[in-house]
Amino acid sequence: IDKYIGKKVLVLGLAKSGYMAAKLLDRLGAIVTVNDKSDLDHDEHAKELEQMGIQVIGGSHPLELITNDLFCIVKNPGIPYRNPLLKEALKKNIPIITEVEIAGELSESEFIGVTGSNGKTTTTMMLGEMMKGSRFNPLVAGNIGTVLSGVVEHSTKENVIVTELSSFQLLGTKTFHPHVAVVLNIFGNHLDYHGSIEEYAKAKSRITVNQTEDDFLVYNAENKEVLDHIVSVSKAKKVPFSSHALTKEGAYIEDDQIYFKNEKIMSTKDVMIRGFHNLENALAALAAAKIYGVSSKDIKEILANFSGAPHRCQLIHTLHGRLFYNDSKATNILATSKALATFPDQSVILLAGGLDRGNTFDDLVPHLTNVKAVITFGETKEKIIDACQKAGIEMIKIVQNVEEAVPVAYRLSEVGDIILLSPACASWDQYDSFEQRGDIFVKHVHMLN
Ligand code: ADP
Repeated sequence: IDKYIGKKVLVLGLAKSGYMAAKLLDRLGAIVTVNDKSDLDHDEHAKELEQMGIQVIGGSHPLELITNDLFCIVKNPGIPYRNPLLKEALKKNIPIITEVEIAGELSESEFIGVTGSNGKTTTTMMLGEMMKGSRFNPLVAGNIGTVLSGVVEHSTKENVIVTELSSFQLLGTKTFHPHVAVVLNIFGNHLDYHGSIEEYAKAKSRITVNQTEDDFLVYNAENKEVLDHIVSVSKAKKVPFSSHALTKEGAYIEDDQIYFKNEKIMSTKDVMIRGFHNLENALAALAAAKIYGVSSKDIKEILANFSGAPHRCQLIHTLHGRLFYNDSKATNILATSKALATFPDQSVILLAGGLDRGNTFDDLVPHLTNVKAVITFGETKEKIIDACQKAGIEMIKIVQNVEEAVPVAYRLSEVGDIILLSPACASWDQYDSFEQRGDIFVKHVHMLN
């Protein structure tokens, strides 16, 4: 495409996606400026871009960057529209897009887009695995692994790009349309950014507004917001999924069996990944895979072996009858309570603790019924102990960190136990990120014998 040749483009936010988008735009002939509010003096990516001749401005958002001759702004999805630069650009009618729009313009590949309040990463990865059984060569983009502009760079007509799309990313699209849109659910979170559930749903609906009758919409037939805001505005062919068999037009569960239309695929008991919500994700992935002709045999095989997305209640190891799960992404009580609810009939040894945000853990108490022991660490350890005592848990151990927690948990465990890292806290008191915390857990689990 030549529409960017000689045009001035401002890339706002130099995270991984901004960096890749800047490189891509530079290659397309645009005159690129990158701006980030943080100081970029020692940033490796900034250095590299500057060496390519791209102007990089860090430390603030100078309003002078919004000139009348700006062709467009490519913004990081996380930057809110109330940012002064964006306000100024809106006043001047300068288009504001995200890398998703450029990816759509640029790539010859077909797109499968996965959105929803929860389950995007898991479904995207599961679907990516299933698509390997199609004649298309899937490329997976999203929160785990490669950002979309990075994937697009190497894609051809032979590929299909499977990508997760947040509402923030979708807001910055104009013409983008996936061949298959997957909408998992809409819950009332993220409202601080979008203002109201209507605005939030409208952002999500951008996944389908440019679709035609030749495209497909895979949707959760049991979620009212999805029906009201997405399905009602879509021209695409509809493929529903329903975990309670409210409709049998697409993928559904009946009597603990997973079906696609009339065909029985497998028993829910043979799905490796735990939790009812993951069965919904499996239905969505399966419905999308069926559009591409993936065989039921391949789908069954993937669902029986897919252990989950990293750090999201992923089964990472079994040793002498103990099952180890990494749920390092659980940085709040709600996430940890969901993880615990996936093991209703087993006894759990929970590894928890981390950054202190000032809250108590009282809300966790009712969810600790299947927990037989807790190993705690980090800033919140005293508060976690308090909650465990309220729940009547007797085995409580304090350790320095995740590294130490692993062997202690193993020593306390018996055959059949679940050893679960689900900290209910952010990681920043001791680790760089939840990913680093999870990786350390996995490493130390594999050191046990
Ligand atoms: P996302 O990419 O949308 O953040 P993930 O796949 O990373 O979603 O899952 C994050 C958490 O969201 C999981 O640990 C689980 O607690 C919850 N979750 C996943 N799928 C669903 C679903 N279909 N419905 C409700 N909650 C879900």
